[in-house]
Amino acid sequence: MDNKKYLDKIKTRFLKYVKYDTQSDPDSETYPSTEKELVLLNDLKNELNELGLDDTKIDEYGYVTAILKSNTEKNVPVLAFVSHVDTATEVTGKKVNPQLIENYDGSDIQLINDATQVIKVESNPYLKNLVGHDIVTTDGTTLLGADDKSGVAVVMSAIDYLINHPEIKHGDIKVLFNPDEEVGTGTKFFDVEKFGADYGYTLDGSVKGEIEFENFNAYGAKVKFFGKAIHPGYAKDKMINAIKALSYFVTLLPDEHSPEHTDGYKGFIHPITMNSGNEEASITFILRDFELEKINDYKEIINTLAKKAADQFGAKFEVEFNEQYKSMNEVIKNHIKVVDYAKEAMDRLGIEVITKPIRGGTDGATLTHKGLPCPKLFTGQQNYHGKQEYISLQDMFDSMRTVVEICKVWEEKS
Ligand SMILES: [Zn+2]
Repeated sequence: MDNKKYLDKIKTRFLKYVKYDTQSDPDSETYPSTEKELVLLNDLKNELNELGLDDTKIDEYGYVTAILKSNTEKNVPVLAFVSHVDTATEVTGKKVNPQLIENYDGSDIQLINDATQVIKVESNPYLKNLVGHDIVTTDGTTLLGADDKSGVAVVMSAIDYLINHPEIKHGDIKVLFNPDEEVGTGTKFFDVEKFGADYGYTLDGSVKGEIEFENFNAYGAKVKFFGKAIHPGYAKDKMINAIKALSYFVTLLPDEHSPEHTDGYKGFIHPITMNSGNEEASITFILRDFELEKINDYKEIINTLAKKAADQFGAKFEVEFNEQYKSMNEVIKNHIKVVDYAKEAMDRLGIEVITKPIRGGTDGATLTHKGLPCPKLFTGQQNYHGKQEYISLQDMFDSMRTVVEICKVWEEKS
């Protein structure tokens, strides 16, 4: 690989993209949620066009798509590489002033415009892997937006690489850049069927070598207790207090299934809000697990304990469940080669593969359930959503090599 040349291209692209303010807005009623996201999306469309991709377009929702046509006789499944342009809502993305630390020496990193912002090695042990790398940080006053402009720079540079290396055989490769991932609606209006890709990868992960394809199955639950409110001076043998039934119910919840006692592959039953009076008292929950069957166990636990609490006080009760999102593994386990080929690509490049479950949701899960199996790959982004966000250019370069190698693996195996 022409390492130096493509490392430079990644650097130039990344430093350019992070200067666009593309923060999304959870309270907006438009789509995309902010106009400013469209500025970068339009420029990305033009850049794809200039690179020479076909069918380059931006639609009414801001989805930028393009195709790099197959250069092989073989019938290879159509791959897609996906990144989001918006940045997180917690910290401002306006006037990002990226700082490049070349040949990092392994010490704590003081951010230049806020004396209190120091990226300490002690609390960021990943930095130990980055000695000798070129690291981009903020100036301490904004986020960086490596989440997910690193993904955009990686995908753009990988496509650039494939175009300039026609000796690398590949099938049809599609690109998708989308807005509004950070507000949970990144692929809400995206027409997966029309897009026409068979398998996809979101480039939005963290540490080098990471591939994620399991996330929580998520349900909400609401339990209501109904009592009988009566003037407390005349309530003897008549009043039924819904607050007491609800309070007792909460004490019955099993500790071993709570978020404060679980990690890794263990799920939980988590009470989040309560609303109570004598007549009616309700509580809402989130239920999370990597296995759908476990969610059914949690529903059973809630039903059983609610009945026990209601019976104890002579109250009535009602339980409702609603699905929030599903694990992408429910689909990906039937298309496991999308994961295996990515692992093989990293193996070939000498990158140690790290798989870990996502204890939350992700855009790739929505795409997966819309019919595009879509695990998440590393770009190197660290400390995302904060002022101490940083990324190594060499990690982004390895992410780009992984994308190129994945295209090769799919062609060879077809
Ligand atoms: Zn992201």
